[in-house]
Amino acid sequence: MGGVPTKHHTRSKTGRRRSHHALKSQNISVCPECKHPMISHRTCPNCGYRPNKKA
Ligand SMILES: [Zn+2]
Repeated sequence: MGGVPTKHHTRSKTGRRRSHHALKSQNISVCPECKHPMISHRTCPNCGYRPNKKA
């Protein structure tokens, strides 16, 4: 048993923990179909173009 927080963290302590939460930068590319910005090798969020799809 245990794990019940007895005190609130300060804002600075919360911010310090969250300092590690940022996502890594994605490889941004442009969809060859609709020219919408997309993450490379992922499905296009705009038109659904899939780079790995066969034919
Ligand atoms: Zn697209």
